[in-house]
Amino acid sequence: MELGGDAIEKLIKAGDIARRTIEYGKGLIRPGRSAREICETVEKYIYDLGGMPAFPCNLSVDHVAAHYTPGLRDDVVLREDSVVKLDIGVSVDGYIADTAVTIDLSGMHEKLLEASKAALDSVVSKIRPGISLYEIGKIIESTVRRHGYKVIRNLTGHNISRYTVHAGLSIPNYPDRALFYKRLKPGMQVAIEPFATNGKGLVKDGSIVNIYSYTGRRPKIKLNDDEEKLLKVVVERYYTLPFTPRWLRKDFDVDKLDNLVKSLEAKGSLHGYPILEEAAKGLVSQFEHTIVILKDEVLVITCKDCRDTS
Ligand code: MN
Ligand code: MN
Repeated sequence: MELGGDAIEKLIKAGDIARRTIEYGKGLIRPGRSAREICETVEKYIYDLGGMPAFPCNLSVDHVAAHYTPGLRDDVVLREDSVVKLDIGVSVDGYIADTAVTIDLSGMHEKLLEASKAALDSVVSKIRPGISLYEIGKIIESTVRRHGYKVIRNLTGHNISRYTVHAGLSIPNYPDRALFYKRLKPGMQVAIEPFATNGKGLVKDGSIVNIYSYTGRRPKIKLNDDEEKLLKVVVERYYTLPFTPRWLRKDFDVDKLDNLVKSLEAKGSLHGYPILEEAAKGLVSQFEHTIVILKDEVLVITCKDCRDTS
């Protein structure tokens, strides 16, 4: 992969907007607030700073590890003791930054947060061109375990390419021997995201699906006029980046939207991302940064002071 032209500049801009949005978003996370209030404010903030959300604002609470964004009808209200993951993506012309923090509203789960935070910090300090994915996983799992928690084995970091948040390479949060010789090379852009839990260390699909993306495939079965219109809007506005039906409620009949996205999914043109719940309903923490590997430099684009020396 080449990162020529103004790609690096756009990545740095996306990272800067993402970092500032996370700082701003943290201040909105309070007991009694709803996920919809927070996410809509956060998404607007990204536009105000000159980016666009690379995926819907994810506000996953307690045992929900990932992929919750408020739907057209469902919402989550934060409680005094909620453990809240704010995970956001910013796109600048398709160049993406992906970053997350966890907020512990009761202050009772500091160690759980510290486990995933320390794992991320450790990778950030040791990552370099040529590091193997095995070694990254080893750093993450050993750090989380040292804090007394488990990693979530079926949630991984990933590489990122233009207009694609998960570009095909998974970076496990445990040492996978099959990846002993799989190394990070200059030009690669990766998101590192350790998850820690006091549960089983696995997630499974939940029943809520509020995030979708265009698969890039024309449907096998003919679309009706409404489906045709929805797909056109999605491709024009978001292309292959994930979106949520909440973003389309001004343009479509809200009563029809749920069924429209579901039928486009059934016809193969949209892919749905169910919420991911810890298998034993354990509490989950997550921290994430996006990192660009260059020939003799590493850029943590979503963090200003993470790596002053490089
Ligand atoms: Mn993320
Ligand atoms: Mn990610």
